Amino acid sequence: MKAVRFIETGKPAQLADVPAPRPGPGQVSIKIAGAGVCHSDLHVLDEELGLKGPFVLGHENAGHIAALGEGVREWREGDAVAVYGPWGCGRCRTCQTSAENYCENHASLATMGGGLGSDGGMAEYMLVPSARLLVALGKLDPVAAAPLSDAALTPYHAIKAALPLLTPDATVVVIGIGGLGHMAVQILQALTPAQLIAADIDDSKLEHARKLGVRHAINTRDADAAAAAIADLAGPRGATAVFDFVGAQATVDLGARIVGRNSRLTVVGLAGGVVHYAANNPQYGCQVTIPYWGSRTELMEVIALAAAGRIRAEVEVFPLEQALDVYQRLRDGKIRGRAVLRP
Ligand code: NAD
Ligand code: ZN
Repeated sequence: MKAVRFIETGKPAQLADVPAPRPGPGQVSIKIAGAGVCHSDLHVLDEELGLKGPFVLGHENAGHIAALGEGVREWREGDAVAVYGPWGCGRCRTCQTSAENYCENHASLATMGGGLGSDGGMAEYMLVPSARLLVALGKLDPVAAAPLSDAALTPYHAIKAALPLLTPDATVVVIGIGGLGHMAVQILQALTPAQLIAADIDDSKLEHARKLGVRHAINTRDADAAAAAIADLAGPRGATAVFDFVGAQATVDLGARIVGRNSRLTVVGLAGGVVHYAANNPQYGCQVTIPYWGSRTELMEVIALAAAGRIRAEVEVFPLEQALDVYQRLRDGKIRGRAVLRP
């Protein structure tokens, strides 16, 4: 079967022909309908993260069950499923709560998940090592639903933890309206009454935010002007919550500057920015957090939001063979919403 593989750090992804997997006991093989193209793949390809290739890329996957390994009885062939991406040990206390994204044994695991050390979903078929890692999609189209497993789950998990702060008199700022950010603004509008501001350096992404219903969309190329505009909207209290889906030095600096007291700065983007923290900061009471992905039950909640029509991933679908070109388009900022590869 055709597959898109990670070979080694610094080398481009490779289109290859690899054997289709067969599920062993307890495992499940998925016929992939869609594999989302996440900006994290660019970090995986470019930066030394300790991942050993080759493996098939794609950690944001959905499709139909192709074959069940011996002993798997809770699913049927043909069921539409999302693949839960962060694979933990499955037995520690945290994994037992379904938050495998925070597995206590992560350091001793050979893989972070499919597409992140193990074979992922940028292929016709994907082997899922345990049926526990599947979540039913019901009637959702698996091509459009693939991004729910990361582009929506990651912001959902980050936002859910901030909900007590997001009251009607609060201001929330989303920085980076790409794959994750365009889901974040929808999730915030679905779950909170807070005043919402979208921020990006690309006017077309700000236009996208406006189309999704966001009233205030601010270009942050001029950080001083952007901080002033946000302060104006937020009033003396400042921003109550900032979600940074870029994580560059410029964006974490902007986030730290616009939050008020008793606030929350959530850095999701992995661009390497460092939050300079001092205890005698005027923003007393600010919580700084670096969430990772989300739990399996949160993926169920995200799927329920999508099934109810409250959130929708905007997808640009490409054939699997165009993966290398799609990575370049993502690098160039030319993808609106999420690119999804269809094998
Ligand atoms: P994307 O490329 O789809 O979107 C990035 C957006 O940020 C674009 O709209 C771009 O215009 C904007 N942007 C870039 N530089 C900016 C700047 N300096 N100021 C303001 N906006 C800027 O990326 P994505 O797939 O949404 O991923 C976003 C980040 O989140 C990546 O770093 C990715 O690796 C990371 N990520 C983290 C987790 C996690 O669990 N922590 C999970 C998934 C992705
Ligand atoms: Zn675990």
